[in-house]
Amino acid sequence: MRVPMTEYLRINLDTELWECRVCEQSLGDARGNYKEGTLVYDRDPREIHQSIIDPERYEFTFAPDPTYCRILEYYCPSCGVQLETEYLPPGHPPTVDMLWDIDSLREQWQARGVDPEQVITYGPDDGSEPEGARHSHASQGGAA
Ligand SMILES: [Zn+2]
Repeated sequence: MRVPMTEYLRINLDTELWECRVCEQSLGDARGNYKEGTLVYDRDPREIHQSIIDPERYEFTFAPDPTYCRILEYYCPSCGVQLETEYLPPGHPPTVDMLWDIDSLREQWQARGVDPEQVITYGPDDGSEPEGARHSHASQGGAA
C-alpha cells in the first residue's frame, strides 16, 4: 500500500520506504527523514532574491546575506523533480519536517479499506491539489 504524503512524496507501507511519486525512486527509510535520500542544492540566496539597490554602493541591498542564510533545495536523484525547499543558516543540517508513525499509518489505512492512491487524488499526475491546499491571498483583506 502506497500513501501519498505530499505532491511529490509518498510512503510505501510494504517496503517502509519514502518514494518519489513521479518516478518511483526510493528515498530511504520511511521512519526517517526523506531528505537523506535526495540531492541537495545549497544555494546562495542572492540567486533567488537579487539585490533591489546597487550592491556596489550599499552594504544592505534587500538581498539575503549568504553568510547568514542559505536556501537548500531537495531534488529526486532519479528524475530531478524538486521535492522541497527550505531556508536555513549556513551549515545547519536539513530539518525534519515529517516524521510519521508508520505502524499507525498502516493501521489507519487498513481500517479504511481503500487504496490511498485512489482516494488521495492530488499530485503530479492530475495537477490538482486537495481543497484548501492552494495558496492564495486573493480573499484576504487589506491588513498587512
Ligand atoms: Zn523522481
